Amino acid sequence: MSKTALVHHPNSVMHKISEYHPERPERITAVEDSLAANGLTDLLVHQQARQAARSELVQVHKPEYVDWIFEHAPTAESETIQIDGDTAMNVYSLPSALTASGAVLDAVDNVINQDVENAFCLVRPPGHHAERAIAMGFCFFDNVAVGAQYVMDKYDIERVAIVDFDVHHGNGTEDIFLNEKRVLFCSTFQEYIFPGKYAPSQPGHLVNVPLPSGTDSGLYRQVFSEKVLPELDAFKPEFIFFSAGFDAHKNDPLASLNLEAEDFGWITEQVMEIADAHAQSRVVSTLEGGYDLDGLAQSATQHVKSLMRLN
Ligand SMILES: [Zn+2]
Repeated sequence: MSKTALVHHPNSVMHKISEYHPERPERITAVEDSLAANGLTDLLVHQQARQAARSELVQVHKPEYVDWIFEHAPTAESETIQIDGDTAMNVYSLPSALTASGAVLDAVDNVINQDVENAFCLVRPPGHHAERAIAMGFCFFDNVAVGAQYVMDKYDIERVAIVDFDVHHGNGTEDIFLNEKRVLFCSTFQEYIFPGKYAPSQPGHLVNVPLPSGTDSGLYRQVFSEKVLPELDAFKPEFIFFSAGFDAHKNDPLASLNLEAEDFGWITEQVMEIADAHAQSRVVSTLEGGYDLDGLAQSATQHVKSLMRLN
C-alpha cells in the first residue's frame, strides 16, 4: 500500500452555482461517503488545504483577470454574480476556488517532501476549463495548472506531465501551457461537446485525443494505450498530475462515453507505472468533473484505490 493524502477543505461544499446545477456540493460528500463505505477513509492521510495566494495564481492567470475575480466576488449571502451561462459565484465561491488551488499546492509540497507518495485533492470548484484570462465551464482558477507551475518554479522540476481524463477537453490547461515546453499535456475527451475547441497535437508537448460518442472500456483502453502512454513514457516526466474528471462514466448526464468505474482505476495504474519508472512515483490528482453522483463516487473510489495501490 502506498501512503496517499486526501487533501480537502470544508469550503468545498460551500460554493454553489445555482439550486439545480450539476456541479453541486453533494459531489464531494458522495465521494467521501464512498471512500468510507469502502474502508479507505482511515487508510488515507488527511490534510486540510490552504488557500492559494494571488501571487501563485498570477503565475498562470493574467493578473487583471485574477484581480477582477477578487474585486467582483460577492461579499453578502444574498448576492450572486453570473460569469457565463453556466458559471456563477456566491459568497463562498472565491474562498472555495482559492482552497481548490491551494489543495494542489499543498499536495505538491507533501509529495515532493515525501510525507506521502501521492495525493488526491477532493475539492471544488473544478479548474481545467479556466483559461489564462477567462472563467468558464464551472471553473475559476485552473487548479492543476497552478500546481504544475508551482512545482516547476519552486522545486526546479523540468518535465511535468498532466493527464486529463475528464470527458471534456481541458481547454484551460491547454491555453495556459501551449507555449510551455516543460509541460506535456494529454487530454482524452468526447468530440464535439463543450468546450468545442482544441489545438492540434504536438508530439512531446500536447496530446489531444477526441473520442466518439459511445466510446466504451475496450476502445478507450486501446486508444489510451496507443496514443497517451507511449508519449508519456517517452517524455520521462519528473512529476505527474491528473485532472481527474469522472464524467466519462457511462451514467453521466453531461456526456455520452461509456466507461465503467473500474476503467478509472486502470487509467490510474497505467500512469502510475510511468510515474514509478521516471517520476519517483510522484503523482498529484485533483477532482474535475463527474455529475452522476453514484458513478462519480464509484469511479473516484477506484481512482483513489489505485493511487493507494490497493487495486
Ligand atoms: Zn467534464
